[in-house]
Amino acid sequence: MNANQNRIIELIRDVPDWPKPGVVFKDITPLLADADGFAAAIDELADLAPGPIDVVVGMEARGFIFAAPVALKLGAGFVPVRKPGKLPGKVDQQSFALEYGNETLAIHSDALWQGARVMVIDDVLATGGTIGATAELIKRQGAELVHVAVLMELGFLGGRERLARAGVDTLSAVV
Ligand code: AMP
Repeated sequence: MNANQNRIIELIRDVPDWPKPGVVFKDITPLLADADGFAAAIDELADLAPGPIDVVVGMEARGFIFAAPVALKLGAGFVPVRKPGKLPGKVDQQSFALEYGNETLAIHSDALWQGARVMVIDDVLATGGTIGATAELIKRQGAELVHVAVLMELGFLGGRERLARAGVDTLSAVV
């Protein structure tokens, strides 16, 4: 683990039993409030890009915080994936199962293009549902998902395996 990674871990706060009993919430707000820590997180995420990237895709809401600065650093564009009803144009949508019920994500239908090299950034990989649905939206527009990078991976939830089954074969976590 390098110095940046140590600093990032120290600044992510565990909040037990939030938002419900049994969940340990990874609170990134102390990391965001620390100028050096936040910069280190962006540097580390950007370093995971495998070659040139045309577009960084970030998911509402915490994904936006990391994906947009990484896009700037990589000289790439930024495309938001949002909850339904938030994007003004024509959208593509993808639903996925949560523990209770379903979630749907949306992207503008003209956001990407055939062969665009896309990197997905989020704060936490948990079950992989969010990133799996996002990967599906990206592929549907003919773009190439070249890498998924997250700040933190909750390995015990099996997100990586779920994503591999969904055809996402390039994934890394900063811590
Ligand atoms: P999932 O779709 O299960 O991989 O969940 C990933 C999304 O939920 C990410 O966008 C995270 O922001 C959020 N998330 C899930 N579990 C946690 C957790 N324990 N702490 C913080 N955020 C979480």
